[in-house]
Amino acid sequence: MEPPNIERLDERTVQRIAAGEVVERPASVVKELIENSLDAGATRVAVSVEAGGTEGIRIRDDGVGIPADQLEAAVAEHATSKIGKIEDLDHGVGTLGFRGEALYTVGAVSRLTVRSRPPGADAGSEITVEGGDVGDVRPAGCPEGTTVEVDGLFYNTPARKKFLKRTATEFDRVNAVVTGYALANPGVAVSLEHDGRETFATEGNGDLRSAVLAVYGREVADAMVDMEWEPGNSDTDSPVHSVTGLVSHPETTRSSREYLATYVNGRYVTAGALRDAVLDAYGGQLAPDRYPFAVLFVEVPPGDVDVNVHPRKLEVRFDEEPAVRAAVEEAVEAALLDHGLIRSTAPRG
Ligand code: ADP
Ligand code: MG
Repeated sequence: MEPPNIERLDERTVQRIAAGEVVERPASVVKELIENSLDAGATRVAVSVEAGGTEGIRIRDDGVGIPADQLEAAVAEHATSKIGKIEDLDHGVGTLGFRGEALYTVGAVSRLTVRSRPPGADAGSEITVEGGDVGDVRPAGCPEGTTVEVDGLFYNTPARKKFLKRTATEFDRVNAVVTGYALANPGVAVSLEHDGRETFATEGNGDLRSAVLAVYGREVADAMVDMEWEPGNSDTDSPVHSVTGLVSHPETTRSSREYLATYVNGRYVTAGALRDAVLDAYGGQLAPDRYPFAVLFVEVPPGDVDVNVHPRKLEVRFDEEPAVRAAVEEAVEAALLDHGLIRSTAPRG
C-alpha cells in the first residue's frame, strides 16, 4: 500500500465543510435570517420558501438596513456589527447573532442575494454571492429594509444536499422555526408562505394570545390559559426569575412534542428539561402519547445558562436544572389548577 499523502485542503473546500456544520438544512438558514431581521429591529418579517426551502428562501424585513458600502462586509467572514471585541461577550450579548458568519456560510453553499435600503436612503443596493464568489455591489430598486434571497441551497455540496428530507419534512422544520420566533416576538408581524400560499401571519400587536391565534388557530387559542410564576418573597436567590406564557387544556393536544415552544431569556431553545417539566405538571391527565400546546418563557440569571453554544444547536443546559424544572412544573400546575383544568392530586404547600 502506498503511504498516504497528507495535503492541506484548499480554502474553498475548508469553507464549504465549515458551512455544512452551521447550515444543515433550510430551517437553519431561515433561523439565521430571522435572527438577523430581529436584530435589525424589524417590525415586519415576511418569510417565503419554495419546496420546503430547498428551492428558494426569501425573507424581507423593515429593519435598519445595510448601507451600500457595508454590503461586502455583511457577507464577509467573521464580520459583524454586533460585537467589537471578545470582552463584549462577557457582558452578555443583547443580540441573537454575533459571530458574523451566517451570511458568509450561506453564501458558500448557495446563491445568496442581499438587497437593502436603509430607511431614508435615496436608493437601495444589492450584492450576490455564488458558491463563495462575491460579486460587485450594484444599485437595486427596493423598499426600505432588507431582503435576503437564498437559491439552490447546497447546489455545490451534493453530499449535503442528499441529507435533506422530503419537502414536507423540511417545510415542517421551517414552519417550527418561524413559529418559534413569531411566538417569542408578538410585537413583530411575522408571516410565512410556502409555494405561494400563506401558512400564517401574525399581527404584531404585542399580544401573545393573538399570535397563538394566528399560528395555531381558534381552537387552540381558546384552550390556552395564562401562566405567571415568580419565586416567593423569601426565596431571594431563586435560580429562576419568572415563568410566564400560555399552556393548553389537557384535552387540546397533538401527537407531537413540537407544540411545546420554550424560550430562555427571550431565546427560542429546545430544552428537554423544560418540556419534561411541562408534561409532569399535567400529571396523568394527558392521553397516552398526546402532548399539550405551550408557549413557555423562562427567565434565569444570564450566567446560569450557556447561550454561546454551537450555532446549530438550540439545546441549552442549566447550571441549576433541578430548580428550573421544579419552577416550571409549579408554574404550569398552578395555571392549570387556577383555571380548573386539572384536579389537585396531592396537597400542595
Ligand atoms: P451576525 O448576525 O453574527 O452579525 P451575519 O453573518 O448573520 O452575522 O450578519 C452579518 C452582518 O450583516 C450583521 O452583523 C449585520 O450588520 C448585517 N445584517 C445581516 N442581516 C441583516 C438585516 N436583515 N438587516 C440589517 N443588517 C443585517
Ligand atoms: Mg446573524
